[in-house]
Amino acid sequence: MIGPRILKANEDSIREAAADLKRGSMVVFPTETVYGLGGGTLDESSLESIYRLKGRDRDNPLIAHVLDIEDAKNITTGWDDRCTLLAEAWWPGPLTLVLGRAPSVPELASGGRPTLAIRSPQHPVARALLKAYGEPISAPSANRSGDVSPTCAQHVIDDYSGDAAADGMIVLDGDRCHVGIESTVLDMTVDPPRILRPGALTAEVLQPLIGLIEHMDIHQTSASPGTMESHYSPQTNCLLVGIEEIRHHLVNINQRCVVLISNPDHHDLVQPPHKLLKMPTDPDGYAHQLYDALRRADSEQADLILIESNGEEDPNWIAIRDRLMRAASDRPI
Ligand code: AMP
Ligand code: MG
Repeated sequence: MIGPRILKANEDSIREAAADLKRGSMVVFPTETVYGLGGGTLDESSLESIYRLKGRDRDNPLIAHVLDIEDAKNITTGWDDRCTLLAEAWWPGPLTLVLGRAPSVPELASGGRPTLAIRSPQHPVARALLKAYGEPISAPSANRSGDVSPTCAQHVIDDYSGDAAADGMIVLDGDRCHVGIESTVLDMTVDPPRILRPGALTAEVLQPLIGLIEHMDIHQTSASPGTMESHYSPQTNCLLVGIEEIRHHLVNINQRCVVLISNPDHHDLVQPPHKLLKMPTDPDGYAHQLYDALRRADSEQADLILIESNGEEDPNWIAIRDRLMRAASDRPI
């Protein structure tokens, strides 16, 4: 069968994957956020392959993964005391910092921008791969551009099986991603620093370290091209609505729906031929299951995916609401 191959992550497979990276091939590996499609940050042809395989616009920058602060300083400019405070508190972890791009780093690593996004991942397999390769690894989420990100090795196989361009590519299987949504991207090149993409770490937990942090508006995409309104989208038409609208759709409209609902009091609303996917009521649990649920909902080939919007103002739901709004946005034609 043409396509990528899953290897259980262990010393041997990680060594084999690092050797592939050294030859300029791409490797898929787990991080605590989502699975990444990796290539050498300093290897221009490997970066080319990532953009080509994902079908990613060439102005959409990649995140470079490093082991520690020293490695981060080597490929960026403008690292300051605030960066040290953030990294000492949250690295390794789901926090990406945007700094200046060092002259040694190819332009393509950041979609032609003078800046570079970097993060130190926590997942032991990601760290072992970085050690074995010995250089930074650029890795966007391993989905096709615009689609739902992968949170387990099988998702990656689902996306690329049959694709000759991914034939033989190693997918290191490191189980399901613990966090389940992408990192928080924090732009350190502006004052005050700005969150370009909300993630597991909120402004509330970062501000005590470095002072005021601003949020970018979801509609304001130019600072961070990958955060277009439609992203993380299932193929099936998707609506993010309150429970009354869900009730209306299920009862009055002749369409088969898959419905994602957290609130257990509302589960009974969904009866065959519609399908219920029960979602956790806490933000960490919800994030952990979100992409798998969107993929499962898509595989039902229903007419419509309905997602209960809980209207929560709690900052811990910001990143989830962001992903749900994008999933429910129209794809560009
Ligand atoms: P992904 O690697 O697919 O999780 O997406 C990475 C995202 O991080 C990009 O799509 C951008 O939104 C953001 N990003 C990465 N590098 C930069 C940068 N240099 N400047 C601004 N945003 C960035
Ligand atoms: Mg992505």
